[in-house]
Amino acid sequence: MKAAVLNKGKNLVEIQDVQEAKPSDSEVKVEIAACGVCGSDVHLIAHGTLKCKHYPGVPGHEASGKVVEIGESVSKFKKGDRVVISAGTSCGTCEFCLAGRENLCKSLGVFGFDRNGSFAQFNTVEERYLYHLPDSIPFDQGAILADAVSTPYHAIRFQGKIQESDTVAIIGCGGLGIHGVAIARAFTKSKLIAIDIDENALENASKYGADETISIKKVKNPGKELKEISKGVDLLVDFSGYTSNIEESVRAMNPGGRMVMVGIGRNPLTFKIPFLIIEKMLTVTGSYGSDRRAIPELIQLIESGKLDLSQSITSHHGLDELNECIDHLDRRIGNPIRFIIEPNKNI
Ligand SMILES: [Zn+2]
Ligand SMILES: [Zn+2]
Repeated sequence: MKAAVLNKGKNLVEIQDVQEAKPSDSEVKVEIAACGVCGSDVHLIAHGTLKCKHYPGVPGHEASGKVVEIGESVSKFKKGDRVVISAGTSCGTCEFCLAGRENLCKSLGVFGFDRNGSFAQFNTVEERYLYHLPDSIPFDQGAILADAVSTPYHAIRFQGKIQESDTVAIIGCGGLGIHGVAIARAFTKSKLIAIDIDENALENASKYGADETISIKKVKNPGKELKEISKGVDLLVDFSGYTSNIEESVRAMNPGGRMVMVGIGRNPLTFKIPFLIIEKMLTVTGSYGSDRRAIPELIQLIESGKLDLSQSITSHHGLDELNECIDHLDRRIGNPIRFIIEPNKNI
């Protein structure tokens, strides 16, 4: 099969012939229909600031496709089924995995980093990494459920425990944060505010239902601005990973409010605990990836009409255009949300 292969020390992938894996007893071979290009792929491929565990590696962790072959003990999937492959990998046997909270597993990994991913014609994975994708959801939208949509869903729904009456602020409206805006909009009837440094990202946020936007570039004091515009925030979710954004926002929080930290910035997060966290009795929590609950719930949300991902797909490309997509995402050319690679097209 053809796959996009990343060799050690290289900042471009090469399209190479790679051996296809035959499924073992518990595995399923999936013909990849769509695989989203994520910001972390830019860090992995273009900048080398994230690494593959083994080189050469095949990146790609947001995939959907069709089952083409199953192992003998596979029970929930059959040939021809439409599926989403989870972004995360885990041990499958620890207490967290058994409870369906794989993102707490000690052996947590990511496809495309810790083992070969899906910028390839096929991927062969354990049955437990798969979710059924109904015919009503196209493969491209199904693919991005694996990370771009499920990660903010986990943060907002499970960690942030969003309520209908919550005034919500989303900081950082890139690939994950923009879906944070869309998900928050599906749950809150109150005010939704989006904050970013990039005007195009804020434009996207308005399209996804933000009532107000704050440009960090234009405003001297974003925390003060957020307080004035929101009249108090109940739930704040940070996708930016910048210490100053989080520290600044504390003063805009309502007493008893919740803050969820998702973004991992370029610099380590080191901040003093502001007294306001104590005084206002804020809950500050982290969120990393998602677990077994997210994708099935998201599918229901899409089918109910409360979440529309059609605007999230920027354009479709063959494997040979992956390097170009990485470059355009890196430089934000064309204000992209998700480029989709279709590995079985133009082969
Ligand atoms: Zn990702
Ligand atoms: Zn585990």
